[in-house]
Amino acid sequence: MTCIAFQIVPDIALTERLFDELGAKTGDSSGITRDSYGMGEQFAHDLVRMEAEKIGMECHTDAACNLYMVMRGRGDGPAIMIGSHLDSVPSGGNFDGAAGVLAGLAVASGFHRAGQRPPVDLVVTAIRAEESTWFGASYIGSRAAFGTLTDEELDGVCRSDTGIPLGAAIEQAGGDPNALRRGDRALDPARVALFVETHIEQGPVLIDERLPVGLVTGIRGSFRHRHAACFGEYAHSGATPRKTRRDAVRATAELVSILDELWARLETEGHDLSVTFGQVNTVAEEAAFSKVAGRVDFALDIRSECDTTLDMMRAELRRVVAQIELRTGTNFDLGDETGSDPARMNKAILAQMEQLADALAIPARRMASGAGHDAAVFARQGIPTAMLFIRNRNGSHNPDESMDIDDFAQAARLLCALCESWSGPPEPD
Ligand SMILES: [Zn+2]
Repeated sequence: MTCIAFQIVPDIALTERLFDELGAKTGDSSGITRDSYGMGEQFAHDLVRMEAEKIGMECHTDAACNLYMVMRGRGDGPAIMIGSHLDSVPSGGNFDGAAGVLAGLAVASGFHRAGQRPPVDLVVTAIRAEESTWFGASYIGSRAAFGTLTDEELDGVCRSDTGIPLGAAIEQAGGDPNALRRGDRALDPARVALFVETHIEQGPVLIDERLPVGLVTGIRGSFRHRHAACFGEYAHSGATPRKTRRDAVRATAELVSILDELWARLETEGHDLSVTFGQVNTVAEEAAFSKVAGRVDFALDIRSECDTTLDMMRAELRRVVAQIELRTGTNFDLGDETGSDPARMNKAILAQMEQLADALAIPARRMASGAGHDAAVFARQGIPTAMLFIRNRNGSHNPDESMDIDDFAQAARLLCALCESWSGPPEPD
């Protein structure tokens, strides 16, 4: 696909002004704070709504205060939705979330300035409460839009700083928790042809590979053992021979190293995977420098965009643990397993975006998303879903998030081309 002339040019000047205004009004010396269902998030919603109305978009909110900014299309087929969230973690950065909403406005304004309408309705969406730091629940806004927020969450989940229950916070922001309790759906998956979320990359891959844009293949699912332990026997470090020791540190270290080797091997074979021991501790009151450790507590987080890889790792974990137990005389208790299912992005749209990036000479690569996003909720509803990553320095959820507006512009060009060349919903995967 080469030599295609696209007419719709994203309105980058608009988005630069909006990023600046968001940064100025929701930031302080320690970073950006746009609290979910609080003043920071509300400011952002009011700001983008005002700008959308200026370019003739019809705006409405749902029972969870998600904001839909609609540019009417030429045809009446299912809509293209472009969106993300506008809340941030406390003292976070200016781009996590906001980039995805502003990218949608850049496209809509591009159509407006060209005096054209999109092929079908273009719905730029600002989703509420994506950051689980505030209410301790994931994807509140997007799940609410599909009527899947539970009564337990509305009543029992309270904001971490103020203690206000989620339902009351939604009501205070102008929403209707009773409609959510009834399971009313604001979005009908059959009326959404595509949901695209643009987001800053939260790792260093695009920086390292000098690429402005990533094309997301899937959002990793996970299985986690947050409270795992290895039990051995405390013993004197000088007096206990190697072969009679039941050393919990050595056994845990073996597990860490064997799983790391397994990760390296599976990665070479083409599996998407990450293996992390985020916490490994001996018991402070019982351990000492001159004692063989009798207990190690640890947390294990295994992620992949592929179900079968997760299943394989689950089986391997059991097998490796049993071997180490036998060899070291220790016992592992992995505790409860928690986790989430992977969410696949639509293959046809992914291929289309790859072709468009090529045609537009935008250097890009395929990559998995290691972090969760609202896009996962849309994908699980059976909606063809896509994600674009934008190169970003210094990770996310911190004030040093750093995205070049030129990289943002490349992603927005790709979105414009996708909308302009839209020929209807893709084949389901
Ligand atoms: Zn985000």
